[in-house]
Amino acid sequence: MAQGIPNEVLMNTTLVKDLADVAKDAALLQGVLMRIQEKPNSSELVTYAPFTLFPTPVPKAVFLQALSLQTHYNILVDKISQDSTFLEEALASTIAVDDFTARLFRIHQQILKEGRSQSIMLGINRSDYMLDQRADGSSSLKQIEINTFAASFGGLSSHTPDVHRHILNVAGRLEESQRIPDNNPAAGQARAVAKAWELYGSERAVVMFLVEESQRNIFDQRFIENELWKRKIPTVRKRFDDVHKKGSLDQDKRLFVDGQEVAVVYYRNGYMPDNYISEETWDTRLLMERSLAVKCPDISTHLAGTKKVQQVLARPEVLEKFFPDQPDMVEQIRATFAGLYSLDMGSEGDETVAMALATPDRFVLKPQREGGGNNIYGSEICQVLEGMKESTERTAYILMDKIHPTPGQNYLLRQDAPLKVSTCLSELGAFGVYVRQGKDMVMNECIGHLLRTKSSEHSDGGVAAGVAVLDNPLLV
Ligand code: ADP
Ligand code: MG
Ligand code: MG
Repeated sequence: MAQGIPNEVLMNTTLVKDLADVAKDAALLQGVLMRIQEKPNSSELVTYAPFTLFPTPVPKAVFLQALSLQTHYNILVDKISQDSTFLEEALASTIAVDDFTARLFRIHQQILKEGRSQSIMLGINRSDYMLDQRADGSSSLKQIEINTFAASFGGLSSHTPDVHRHILNVAGRLEESQRIPDNNPAAGQARAVAKAWELYGSERAVVMFLVEESQRNIFDQRFIENELWKRKIPTVRKRFDDVHKKGSLDQDKRLFVDGQEVAVVYYRNGYMPDNYISEETWDTRLLMERSLAVKCPDISTHLAGTKKVQQVLARPEVLEKFFPDQPDMVEQIRATFAGLYSLDMGSEGDETVAMALATPDRFVLKPQREGGGNNIYGSEICQVLEGMKESTERTAYILMDKIHPTPGQNYLLRQDAPLKVSTCLSELGAFGVYVRQGKDMVMNECIGHLLRTKSSEHSDGGVAAGVAVLDNPLLV
């Protein structure tokens, strides 16, 4: 049977040190880059994006399972986004106490009231999984969450396979090197954006990347931008403030920013409360949502990606409602659900609280937040729940079974960090894109994957949060 990287390589300190130097240069050569923390808005000084020295073994069957599910998940997300009754019921208890979700929901309602101005929908999402280890040594794919908004690292992860292949070649591991699968989500993302742009149907109109204030991860986005330019599709990068100052809708609700018509708004910012620094930012979000531009994603699809929706989907009969005639699809999707529990007021929520307080280490407590570092674990679950167990405040959270992936040994390469072996856990993501025009799905694809790995010392956190690093599967 195919194996991972043998210990004689992993633990050979001289070799590892040499390989780490080779690895960093390979990452720089491939454009696996980030701006430095001190100067996030300048490309004068850049570094390699953090990554593992070695790829991580992933069973081929589970890898293929994640990829093959992605088109189902695309359809599911899209159906949810169009079911306003479902969204309203699913999020009712959450928006009563969570101000951020409530504000997003208000925009959603206003759009429904006015009527959606654009029938073309562009989705770029990433469904993330961990491989839960079973008693018999096998592993089962369990979804951590789905990101429907600003799912990142499709660009950089298009260039990491060659980095790891090179490292393995230099290490003399030619056979393993061939077991790193190809990956090019950037091309797929660009293809989907290009499709939406074409359907919008105005040659001069641009694709607008709505970007962060602090743009450390710009290269991840540049790969997509450059793919679009190759197709003669103009792109611009604008912040909320630029759109606030220079953006307007004409009488047909066409969005103009700085005199340029915008065909597609691709949000890479706007998923955290902190992104909305003022009322103007919220007004700007509303302006873009009301516009004729294709939104990636639109406000309804943004809400479809909340953790509360994820929990409601795991209830009996809910998936069946979305796929009444497709029991196979329901079964395949449901097989990836971990236990998810409501904290709504009432006996069911009371039971969830009791269960969490009794065995906190079995669970993760999650608020409606994105970007890593927001979840609550272990004894802190008790502290937080004790403080709000009788209050509606608890309905801002959901509870989830903790997934236990098999730990592995690796080296996390990060600027200025000492080279040391770490016990690591990995998370596998599948990227999906879709374009819908009215009722017709004109594109629905799985476009690649992302493997992220973190030290097991950390319970939470993604790459942008400075915890996880980029990795590749080594198919076994
Ligand atoms: P975010 O939207 O902030 O990325 P996630 O649900 O992905 O929220 O959680 C952040 C991180 O917390 C994940 O990348 C993973 O490392 C860890 N995590 C989340 N849910 C679980 C879980 N059920 N079991 C184990 N770890 C989890
Ligand atoms: Mg997320
Ligand atoms: Mg996540």
